[in-house]
This record gives sequence, C-alpha cells and structure tokens, in this order.
Amino acid sequence: MTGHDFHTHSTYSDGTLAPGELVERAHANGVHTLALTDHDATDGIAEARAAAAHLGLRLVPGVEISVTWKQQTVHVVGLGVDVAHAPLQAGLARLREFRAWRAQEIGRRLRKKNIEGAYERARGLAKGAVVSRTHFARDLVRQGFVATMGQAFKQYLGRGRVAHVPGRWAALEEAVGWIRGAGGIAVVAHPARYALSGGKLRRLLEEFRACGGEALEVISGAQPPAATAQLARLALELELFASAGSDYHGPEQQWIDVGRLPALPSELTPVCEAPALRGASS
Ligand code: AMP
Ligand code: MN
Ligand code: MN
Ligand code: MN
Repeated sequence: MTGHDFHTHSTYSDGTLAPGELVERAHANGVHTLALTDHDATDGIAEARAAAAHLGLRLVPGVEISVTWKQQTVHVVGLGVDVAHAPLQAGLARLREFRAWRAQEIGRRLRKKNIEGAYERARGLAKGAVVSRTHFARDLVRQGFVATMGQAFKQYLGRGRVAHVPGRWAALEEAVGWIRGAGGIAVVAHPARYALSGGKLRRLLEEFRACGGEALEVISGAQPPAATAQLARLALELELFASAGSDYHGPEQQWIDVGRLPALPSELTPVCEAPALRGASS
C-alpha cells in the first residue's frame, strides 16, 4: 500500500465507475494521490477533481494516449496535464474521430460473422463517451457469444482477429509533444503487456526519451514480480522516473483494485518527484 495510483479509468472511457465513484473508492482504499487517465479523453477530470477536493485527495489530471509505434499499439500516459491546452485537446479529438470510425468498422466486421447490432449496443454501453474495444467485449459476453472478456479479445477483437482494425493512432513524438506542451510528464504505460522483445522495448524507450518522454510505469496492475524487476532495471539504466498504476477499470476486474499496489523498488525515483508533479496540487 503506497497511497498513490497513477493510472485509472472512469466511465468517460472504458471504466465502469463514474469519476466521483472512482475517487471515493480510491479514498476508501487509502489513496491520497490519484491520477484519472481515461483513454484519449479528459472529460472526467472536472468531476474527479470536485470529488477529490471534497475528500481531501490530490487529483492528478491525466490521460492515456493511444500511439502507433512500428505497427504496434502502445499507450502513453500523460500526468499533470493542463486539460485546457488546445494542442492536447485537438490531438485527442483526432484520436476520438478515428475511434468513432473504427467502432463502426468493428460493427461491420462482427456483422459479417452474424453478430448483429454490436455497434449500436457498444455505443449504448459507452453512454456517449469514447467507444473502446472493451465495450464490444462486454457486449459479446452479455450476448453470450463468448464466456469472458479475455475470450472476446482472443476470438474477435485482438490483434489479427476478424474484428481487429489496425490502429492509426498518434505518433510517439506527437503524444509526448502534446503532454509536454500541456505541462505534463509522459509515461510509457504497462510496458510488459506489449509482447515486445527486450531489445525492441529498449528501442521504444530510447525513442521515447529522445522525444522528451521521462517516465516508465514500472508497476502496472497485478504484473508478475519478474516483470517489475526487469522494468526497474530499465528505468534505472535509462534514467526514467518510475510510475505505478493499477490500470483500474472497475470492480468487475477482481484481480486488482484502485490503489492496491506494491511499493516501487527503493532505488528508483518515483514520478511524483518529477517537476511536472511537484508543487501545485492541481
Ligand atoms: P481500445 O483502446 O479501444 O483498442 O481498447 C483497448 C482496451 O481494451 C484496453 O485499454 C483494455 O482495457 C482492454 N483490453 C485489451 N486487451 C484485453 C484483454 N485481453 N482482456 C480484457 N480487456 C482487454
Ligand atoms: Mn482500457
Ligand atoms: Mn492501456
Ligand atoms: Mn489504461
């Protein structure tokens, strides 16, 4: 238990708790510094901030930006961003336009597999917020086409599957540029989840650094200790600040809870000590 959580989602992307509910749960779990990092959107920040102020929590305004790097989708979290920064919002709006088109395309591809109405239902589940593959996966489970979320990705939505639409997300330097322009610090999210070889992950991090990226999510969700050890070595070697986040999406994810994270290895410099996160508790 560390009192921090720098990676969480709300109903403004593919989380199932409203920002206020998320903040309350974080508070109940002993969190004093919480970042809300919805996919390609910052619309939940105002509500989260109000709830955090009420409970005396520090809310770090954040976002998780979808990036395409060498045909791979990579997520870059921005922490401590000024959500009023116009270039950041213009960039996010472009990604949401792609998301909107992609959602229709996913629906068309599922229809070819005799799954009717998935697009409309996924939009319904998203309730006006960005439509994510998570919404399609939830729908496929509800409709009984698959038993679990994992299976929905394995059979339909994952890379190389029938309903997978290759991403045309932001370039790495764009995402880092928007975050830095907005006064924030850029973090490579859940590096262990990309199935990159050690060499390729290192190249990603080197390019990320060259673009102005400064932090690595050394602890993500419930990852194995061996992954944490490998990422800790990389953060030290490449002199990156270390972040820790649950990537919490709601109580349905029973293997992880907001703020329930192991401590960062003590030799690392925690991201909360980065200039972008010191000072004003926005
Ligand atoms: P999108 O950004 O719309 O492509 O959706 C990506 C989201 O899908 C991630 O942020 C996760 O929340 C979720 N996701 C990806 N892979 C899986 C999986 N195997 N099982 C459950 N959720 C997943
Ligand atoms: Mn997600
Ligand atoms: Mn992610
Ligand atoms: Mn996430």
